[in-house]
Parts: sequence; C-alpha cells; structure tokens
Amino acid sequence: MSELGFASKVLHTEPHDKGMHSHVTPIFQTASFVFDSPDHGAALFAGKEQGHIYSRLGNPTVEAYETVVAALEEGVAGAAFGSGMGAVSASMLAFLKAGDSCLVGDTLYGCSVDLVQDHLPRLGIEVITIDPAAISDIEKNFKPTTKIIYLETPANPTNKISDIPAIAEFAHKHGAMVVVDNTFSSPYFQKPLKLGADIVVHSSTKYINGHSDVVGGVLVASTKDQMAKVLEWRKVTGGIMGPMDAFLSLRGLKTLPIRMEKIQKSALEVAQYLEKRPEVEKVLHPGLPSFPQHELASKIMTGYGGTFSFTMKGGFEAAKRLLEEVKFMTVCVSLGAIDTMIQHPASMTHACVPEHLMIKQGLTRNMIRISIGIEDTKDIIADFDQAFEAMKKAK
Ligand SMILES: *Cc1c(COP(=O)(O)O)cnc(C)c1O
Repeated sequence: MSELGFASKVLHTEPHDKGMHSHVTPIFQTASFVFDSPDHGAALFAGKEQGHIYSRLGNPTVEAYETVVAALEEGVAGAAFGSGMGAVSASMLAFLKAGDSCLVGDTLYGCSVDLVQDHLPRLGIEVITIDPAAISDIEKNFKPTTKIIYLETPANPTNKISDIPAIAEFAHKHGAMVVVDNTFSSPYFQKPLKLGADIVVHSSTKYINGHSDVVGGVLVASTKDQMAKVLEWRKVTGGIMGPMDAFLSLRGLKTLPIRMEKIQKSALEVAQYLEKRPEVEKVLHPGLPSFPQHELASKIMTGYGGTFSFTMKGGFEAAKRLLEEVKFMTVCVSLGAIDTMIQHPASMTHACVPEHLMIKQGLTRNMIRISIGIEDTKDIIADFDQAFEAMKKAK
C-alpha cells in the first residue's frame, strides 16, 4: 500500500487490535505494571527488554497518542506532557547547559516568554531575542555557543511567520538545532520537521485535542538521540501526560482534519468581514493578501489555521467594550477549540510579557485575539454585528 493520507493516518496509525481485541485504545489507568519475575523486572530496568514499568516512565495509552502525533509530524518519536509548557520547556532544558546561548523569536506565547526571559538566564543560559522574519538578524546574533533557535510560527497572537527552511539551513550549517512551536497550525497545516526543523512542540490543549477538556503538550523529535534526552528529562522532572488525558487527546485528534478544514474556511470569512468593518483598524490573518507575510505563509503552510488577531480603531476602550458586548462567542483564554473563543492578549494571555517586548511583537492594547470554532459562520458574524451595534449606543 502507498503511504496513507493525513486523515487516514490519524485513524490507522494504531494497530486495529488495541489489546484484548478492543477497537479503541483503552485507558490504562494504572501506576505500575506487573513483572513476570524478578529477572523480568531487572531486564526492563536495564533496557534489555521492552515493556512497561511505571506510568511516569511510559504508559500504553500515552504511547498510543505519542505514536499517532509522531506519525502526523513525520518524526521518529513523540513524548507527551501534562501541558504545552511541559513540552516547550523540555525542548530547551533537555538540551541546554550553562554557557550555551539560545536565539528566540520575538513573538512567543506569554509563558514561553517567561521561560526564556526569566528562567533560562537564571540557569546561566544566554537568551537573545531575534526577529524571526529577518534572517540577517539571526546571522548577526549567532555565536559559536548558540545551540538552539527557538521559533513559534505562526506566532501567538500576531501570526508572525518564521521562514523555517531558511533558518534551518543556516542553523544546520553552524551546528545549532531549530525548535518550532507548531500549536497554531497543527500538523494538518504545517510540518516543521519536513521544512527542516529538528524538534516540534505543541500545546495539544489547542487544536490537537480540540475540545477544551484537556491541558496537554507533545514534542516530536527527528532523531532517536534527541528523543532519548527528552525522555530522560521527562523522567526526572515528572512531566508526563496522564492516561485519561492521553485517551481524550487521541479521541480529539481523530477529527483534526475535518475540524481544521471547517475552521480555516470560517476564519477566513470572519477575517474578511472584520477587515471591512469601520470599527476595525487591521486584521492579522495570514490568509489575507493584506497580511505582511502572506506570501511566506502560503509557501510554507498548506492552510492558514483559525486563530488570528485584529486591532480596534477606538483603542483599548473599544476592545474592552467589544468583549463586553459579544454574546455567543466565549470570552476566555486558550484557542483551537470547537467553539469560538475571544480574548484580550495584552491583559490576559500575554499580560506577563515585558512592555519593550510587547512593542517589539506589535502587541498593542487595542488588539483582540479570536479562535474560530466550528459553528455556523453566519452566527459568528451576526454576533459581531450585534456587538458593534451595541457599542454605538452610549453606555
Ligand atoms: C497555549 C500555548 C502554549 C502553552 O500550552 P499549555 O498547554 O497552556 O501549557 C504554548 N505555545 C503556544 C503557541 C500556545 O498557544
């Protein structure tokens, strides 16, 4: 058989019989696994035999989930974590040591900013913030001690795009690794490892699980050596995902392709609608021809995703009023769920980003981030219509 397509891989990477003739992977809700004999236990600990020991080290439900995500990202293996930040932090801390240097994109998820700006330097790791849209900035700041270039693309919340192939080519010439946070695209629309990256991480809380009922993360590596370091790190820091969360994530993942298709179509329609509204200053959606990196986005991704930002002409007050007036959309943080979620990055998800970095990111106080769900598009637009109308009336 030829290689399966993405939607088939989602469903058929796991074996048909998931153990005990179960059609669906069971939830192995157990802390330990029983040894046949003392010799068997010793052989498992020595790595001479394959099998399960203890669920902090590995668990069959978690492994089923890791195997499917690794197949979708076209890497050698996956490691699931209790949150996206578990995967993000492992992608750096499993590899870096004091004295190393790390280049990080200027636009990152708020807690990722915290990690690289506050905690890596505390451990003696130098962090230099670069503009990932300018390869010259990477060349200028690269040092012999640079071990990792960490990128988030499209970046949260402005959708800034990094040219993964060009950056990876430069990094590999100089012996550094490229890590990409692929949360916004999901593997359905972008495969960073195929574009040259070494490691890909996700907050699988978002599109991969897609149902807002799990906080989780996953990391996919391109070599076995990298994965061995990540698994050792996960073992000693204890960040593995739980079996129930892996079960829910596997279940959510099964509909990723159809969710992403519907979400992307709807998101583009809503972005086009917002671009025409007189109250809106600009819309940052990579699928719009007005988006500064529209061409690069179209080159490296196969779709534009469903989360984007827009700014309000009326400043922070107008942004706040809009969030007060929406009725149907849910005002909460997170993204990539089946229902539409809307929030204010400067005071919520990115509130912890220092002011100078907010300015560098183009993250302004009149900005709103929206994650489009799978509702009828007309109802999302109708909610905006009524909210804009309500805003016109004095409060
Ligand atoms: C949400 C998010 C994270 C962090 O994930 P958690 O699951 O909340 O720990 C990391 N990167 C991006 C791009 C995110 O949107």
